[in-house]
Amino acid sequence: MLTRSISIVALLCLPAIIKAWGFFGHERINRHAVYSLPPRLMVFYKPHISYLVTHSTDPDKRRYMLPDEGPRHYIDLDHYPRSEYDSLAVPWPRAVAHYTADTLQRHGILPWHFETMMYRLTAAFLARDRERILKLSAELGHYVADAHVPLHTSSNHNGQFTGQHGIHGLWESRIPELLADAEFDLWAGKALYIREPRGFIWSILLESAAAADTVLRVEKELSNSLPADRKYAWENRNGQLVRSYASDYTKAYSSKMGDMVERRMRGAILATASCWYTAWANAGQPPLQTINNSDFQATDQKETDLLERLWRGGKIFGREH
Ligand SMILES: [Zn+2]
Repeated sequence: MLTRSISIVALLCLPAIIKAWGFFGHERINRHAVYSLPPRLMVFYKPHISYLVTHSTDPDKRRYMLPDEGPRHYIDLDHYPRSEYDSLAVPWPRAVAHYTADTLQRHGILPWHFETMMYRLTAAFLARDRERILKLSAELGHYVADAHVPLHTSSNHNGQFTGQHGIHGLWESRIPELLADAEFDLWAGKALYIREPRGFIWSILLESAAAADTVLRVEKELSNSLPADRKYAWENRNGQLVRSYASDYTKAYSSKMGDMVERRMRGAILATASCWYTAWANAGQPPLQTINNSDFQATDQKETDLLERLWRGGKIFGREH
């Protein structure tokens, strides 16, 4: 039986590590994306909104099961000279021929995995396979959302090179958890057709990379201007007392970045809806009300249980974020 008493934990590994866009952020992004869809798609997606929300975090959970999963969530663009970006934004076989698969894997493969996911989702629409459409939509939303996070394009992804350990969770978990529902305007507008998925993902990644310096610099300046006791606070999370970034510190950091987190979150919502819409359009706009798959619940439950077990008890492969 769990007691509700507060215990002090994890004193030595602070601040508390929180997962990418936080589970909170990924869930919000997939949920809001449904409302940006055109009606013909929304009638299919909306009844499954809780599935899309719940499974928005599966790719992060899968990092406890698959060593190959981690590099799909980021690309360290600062590893490559700017002059090489054109040689990177090419199909996977050409990029491999130029850099080798090992090098690409080591520094993250998000843009190529995104293309694979777009291809798979389009194929699922062509096959009218409801189970795969939903699973791939939920997961595609995850990778698209990760691409909008500036620190997912930087090798200094958790401020580990600059004495800013924890900044990853501060930007993409703590700020949205504190401000998204209360203050952010997350209406992203209507889904758009994406003519060139490769160019689309690369422009998102380049915007993220351009913002990464600001993300790091602004936090450094704020941190230097305040004593440590204004930076962290103890918080009760599920009955455990954990040290986290203080609310005032989090709000001050967010406001010094202007509307960056809100804008990137809204961008992730619109991009997710646009990817779902584009895959469907490229599959010939199949009518979705006729799609049915009676095995869906059983298969889904089995996989969900497995991911949940590994996530709770396992050790992550690769980066924490
Ligand atoms: Zn991720």
